[in-house]
Amino acid sequence: MNTLLTTQQTSELSNIIGDAKNIVITCHHNPDGDAIGSSLAWGRYLSLKGKDVTVVIPDAYPDFLQWMPGTQEIVRYDTHPEKAAMLLKIADLVCCLDYNATSRIGEEMERALQASAAPRLVIDHHLNPDIPSALTISQPSMSSTSEMVFHIIDELGDYDVIDRQIATNIYTGMMTDTGAFTYNSADPDVYIVISKLLAKGINKDKIYRNVYWVFSVSRMRLWGEVLQSFVVSDDGHASYFTISRKMMKRYNFIKGDAEGLVNMPLQIKGIKLSISLREDTEKPNLIWVSLRSVDDFPCNKMSEQYFNGGGHLNASGGRLFCSLHEAEEVVKRAIKEFKY
Ligand code: 5GP
Ligand code: MN
Repeated sequence: MNTLLTTQQTSELSNIIGDAKNIVITCHHNPDGDAIGSSLAWGRYLSLKGKDVTVVIPDAYPDFLQWMPGTQEIVRYDTHPEKAAMLLKIADLVCCLDYNATSRIGEEMERALQASAAPRLVIDHHLNPDIPSALTISQPSMSSTSEMVFHIIDELGDYDVIDRQIATNIYTGMMTDTGAFTYNSADPDVYIVISKLLAKGINKDKIYRNVYWVFSVSRMRLWGEVLQSFVVSDDGHASYFTISRKMMKRYNFIKGDAEGLVNMPLQIKGIKLSISLREDTEKPNLIWVSLRSVDDFPCNKMSEQYFNGGGHLNASGGRLFCSLHEAEEVVKRAIKEFKY
C-alpha cells in the first residue's frame, strides 16, 4: 500500500496526540456516513490509547446511521450547545474530520470552534483544505476520510488497536462515500484496506443492509413520487427534481429520506448529471442542492458557479437562498449554459 503520511507528519502527529488528554472530534454539518464513520473510528482509536474523547457534531445525522457503534455518545451542538461549547473550551486538541473549511460546521458551532484555543488536527479528503491547524493531513485522492483514518492508525503502527467497532465505522464511511464502491474507489489500495478491515471481523453484508435497505414505506413512496415527476433536459443529458416541504409533510419526511435519491436518474442511459432541489424543513427561502454526475462532468464547478457550493467532480452540494420555484429557474439556466 502507498503510505499516506510523510515521516515528518508521522512524528508531528505522534507529538500532537501525545501532548493531548481531552480531545474533541468534529465533522461537518448534515453529517454523512463518512463524517460519522471517520469521527467515531478516530475517536474510539484515541480513547483506546487512553485519551478522553468526545465526538461533537453540528446537527443530526440520518436515521440510517443510528446503528453505527458509538453514536450514543455523540454530542450534538444544535441540541446541546452549552455542553458542546464547554467540551470545545476545555479540549487540548480539536480534530476536524471530513471538512475543509470552518464554515462547513455551521455558523454557531464555527463560533464555538473559533473560541477554542486548542491546537487543531485536520484529517480530510476534500480539495483545498483551508482550516488553520497545527497539522493538516489532506489527501483528495482518497475515497473517504474514513480510509485516511485507517491509513493513519496503521502507519502509526497501531493496526492491532483496530477492533471490530473501529473497522465497522471505517468500512461504513468508505462504503457510503463511494456509493457502495461504485465511484471514487478505483485505487487498488481501497481493496487492501477492505481486506484488512474484513480481517477484523466486520460483517460487510450486514453493514450494507443497515445503511441501504432500511426504507420506511413512506420513504419508498416519496421516491416513487419523485421518480414520477423528475424533469429531463431536451438533449437527455441532465435531469433535476424538486422536493417541497409539502411533499415532505405528505410522506412524513425524516432526515436521510432523500439520501441516495439524486443518484437514481443516473441509471438512465445517457444522463450525465442529476440535480436535487430540496426545501429546508424549517427555514424559508433555503434550498439544499445536491449534484451527481458520471464520467468527467464537473459537478463541483457547476456547484461553485451556480449553487454557492462545491465538492467532488462527481458529487457536490450547495444551497440557494430563494424559493423552490426560483431555484428551478437557476437549475434550468445552469443546465442550459453548461457544456457537457
Ligand atoms: P451532498 O449532495 O451529499 O450534500 O454533497 C455531496 C458532496 O459535496 C459531499 O462530499 C460534500 O462534502 C460536498 N459538498 C456539499 N456541499 C458543499 C459545499 O458547500 N462546499 C464544498 N466544498 N463541498 C460541498
Ligand atoms: Mn467524506
